[in-house]
Amino acid sequence: MTSWVRDPAFARDQPFGPQTLPYGVVDAGDGPRVAVRLGDHALALPSIARHLGDLAELVSGVSLDPLLAATRADWSGLRARLTSLVTQPSAPTGAELVSLSDVRIPLPFTVGDYVDFYSSRHHAENVGRIMRPDSDPLLPNWTHLPVGYHGRSGTVVVSGTPVERPHGQRRGKGGPHFGPSGRLDVEAEVGFVCGGPVARRVPTRSAAEHIFGVVLLNDWSARDIQGWEYQPLGPFLGKSFATSISAWVTPLDALATARVAVPDVGNPWLPYLVEDTPWGLDLRLSVEWNGTVVSRPRFADMSYSCAQQLAHMTVNGATVRPGDLFASGTVSGPEERQRGSFLELSWGGRDLIELADGQTRTFLEDGDTVVITAQAPGEDGSVVGLAPVEGTVLPAVDL
Ligand code: MN
Repeated sequence: MTSWVRDPAFARDQPFGPQTLPYGVVDAGDGPRVAVRLGDHALALPSIARHLGDLAELVSGVSLDPLLAATRADWSGLRARLTSLVTQPSAPTGAELVSLSDVRIPLPFTVGDYVDFYSSRHHAENVGRIMRPDSDPLLPNWTHLPVGYHGRSGTVVVSGTPVERPHGQRRGKGGPHFGPSGRLDVEAEVGFVCGGPVARRVPTRSAAEHIFGVVLLNDWSARDIQGWEYQPLGPFLGKSFATSISAWVTPLDALATARVAVPDVGNPWLPYLVEDTPWGLDLRLSVEWNGTVVSRPRFADMSYSCAQQLAHMTVNGATVRPGDLFASGTVSGPEERQRGSFLELSWGGRDLIELADGQTRTFLEDGDTVVITAQAPGEDGSVVGLAPVEGTVLPAVDL
């Protein structure tokens, strides 16, 4: 059976084939519409509303917000319906397919609260060794809870948005210096988009009711600003100037085959962090710096899962709402070429990173572009693509 979608990138052996179907928003000049990505095209969902029954109202607005506010049963029902409609031999009446190169793609949902975790043991140990060389690289709480902080949701931007080099204070001789960051960095992360009813104290077994899907996320970080300001309360202006996410949200249902157990942390969990089903994910990330792949981190190396992070984030009675976003923390593996930040790849600026064009780098220069991509194993040997997150550094503005 051949699909009516005539796009060679919409095939089972391609990352954005019918096994993936991520949700986003496209604007072809007539206003934003909710869509699913089919290869290098998007199907505007309002154009097939007549085929979606009651579920049509969830995707008739200008963003994914109403869909996120629905339930797991609706999400699975809509995905099943769309899978059937896009794989049938003839186009459903009204179906409007647009090329991704012909549309503007805005941030697909209203970001609620934003939390960033720190759940890679390898990242935490590397940063500990670089920043605090004379003490134990891992602090004592790390193997007992997913360390995190609340970030700034208002500066979460969609992939493709340029990122201006931030100004700030940094440590200097004779007192702090002020000016553009000289140590601008990335953090390759995975972001989890929340949905479902407003809830508190979400147990790990209920994670699927409150996690709609997954994006790639770049937690841009100014290391010199961060290094001066972070004690004793943690990340602040060194992080809050920009956080980029993929334009397309991959539904959790597309990643069923990618589920794996998280590695042992070496001590038992408190009961609220125990999982009855594995919630780790086998996502293979790739970090490209001006077109050169400099790192291939594996998400399966992360020590805390999204279900554990959500359980921890809400165990004190804090609510989770549709549109909340939480990120995994920098994804780094045990090998040098699996490090998810340039701080680690250059070992605090000590080692040069070579790019394919012969240039070398430690931290980002103006005009540099970073693209993070990822793939996961899908059903029947297929591959599920996560939409890339891309950003280019703009020079600091004159103050
Ligand atoms: Mn981070």
